[in-house]
Amino acid sequence: MVWRDSKTKSLLQIVRTHLLVTLVFVSFNCAPHVGLLYSQEPAKQAVAENSDQRLFEFTFLNEQQKEQTIQAAQIVEARDGGVVMLTRDGRLLTATPDQLKQKRQLDQSFTPLDLTELEQQLTAEFGSDFTITQTKHFTICSQAGKRYTKWCSYLFERLYTVLHNHWDSKELPLHDPQVPLIAVIFKDRANFEQYASQILGKDNAAVHGFYSTQSNRMVLYDLTAAPNEPPAFTDADILKKLSKSPFNVATIIHECTHQIAFNAGLHTRFADNPLWLTEGMATYFETPDLRSKTGWRTVGKPNPWRLKQFQDYARSRRPADSLQTLIMTDQRFQDPEQVLDTYAEAWAFSYFLIKTKRKQYEEYLRLIAVKKPLIWSTPEERLKDFESVFGNDLSRLDQQFLKYMQQISR
Ligand SMILES: [Zn+2]
Repeated sequence: MVWRDSKTKSLLQIVRTHLLVTLVFVSFNCAPHVGLLYSQEPAKQAVAENSDQRLFEFTFLNEQQKEQTIQAAQIVEARDGGVVMLTRDGRLLTATPDQLKQKRQLDQSFTPLDLTELEQQLTAEFGSDFTITQTKHFTICSQAGKRYTKWCSYLFERLYTVLHNHWDSKELPLHDPQVPLIAVIFKDRANFEQYASQILGKDNAAVHGFYSTQSNRMVLYDLTAAPNEPPAFTDADILKKLSKSPFNVATIIHECTHQIAFNAGLHTRFADNPLWLTEGMATYFETPDLRSKTGWRTVGKPNPWRLKQFQDYARSRRPADSLQTLIMTDQRFQDPEQVLDTYAEAWAFSYFLIKTKRKQYEEYLRLIAVKKPLIWSTPEERLKDFESVFGNDLSRLDQQFLKYMQQISR
């Protein structure tokens, strides 16, 4: 693996100073995507993965320059001594050699927080007007009403089952999450936006939800809450209110897909995940179906708004090497002018590959999923990875892709 450049800033500094979140757009006119960061590290700092999952005690200076002691697993140790830590509530924290004051291996294995510990922690963080509910796979910390919280929990669990059924196989074995899957649900948009602006920055808070690979949490709000309107008392009320904006329901599904995929073995947090792949995965599942009780039951149906966006884009598809740039870099996701077309192309391309080349798509997923955290591929390496699975005749693949999408459009 070759490092992309050798900036003097340490790897861990670079990673920590960026938000590691994935977002979906609330409307077709909103803030640019805050993407996963693809940073670089000098070759001499090559990392070694510690996979035995022992529990450590780390004392380090946090971002506020306060000394902090935590128990965590060590996910990565850089050659310069910097570390990436997995906390027992599922966050990934980093400490540079300068910040790390002490590290001690404990005579215990890493275990996630149990429900009582998690409940205490979340209540201390969010306050007593949030209730903590545990479902089979999710911990839901909600300020919304009981009915809406329950409705979300059905949706999360349904999606969890469907995703596992869809991908789990001998060749691509999925696993249960190692750490809690936490969903934070605010009671309304105002409360959500206040919190989101602290995490994402003011300019990026105009979204309906987000999943952070750093905190491993999805953060949402009650989409049915509206000023001067009575709350939704039944599932039917919820669906009626949500049917006014199905794209918003797609946000929940989209973020939840990211969370499950990053915790079940489909992707690896803090590793080099091409955005077309992770966003393609989330948009593949996001199609809501408001005739069903949970607002969603379909998988593998064309995603209507992504399809429409792609059809428009296809008429004047730029650049000519659209597919190649999509595969090689994430740049187009970060350009406000191109971002929605790029999401649409990521959906369309993923849809095409899953429907027509599923075995190869799964092979590629595996190839990317086993990449180690904090090792960033160059654009050339990304292309090489892709071509190692799908062949190196991209223009032929592009023709097949466009032809398939024309058929879908009919
Ligand atoms: Zn996303």
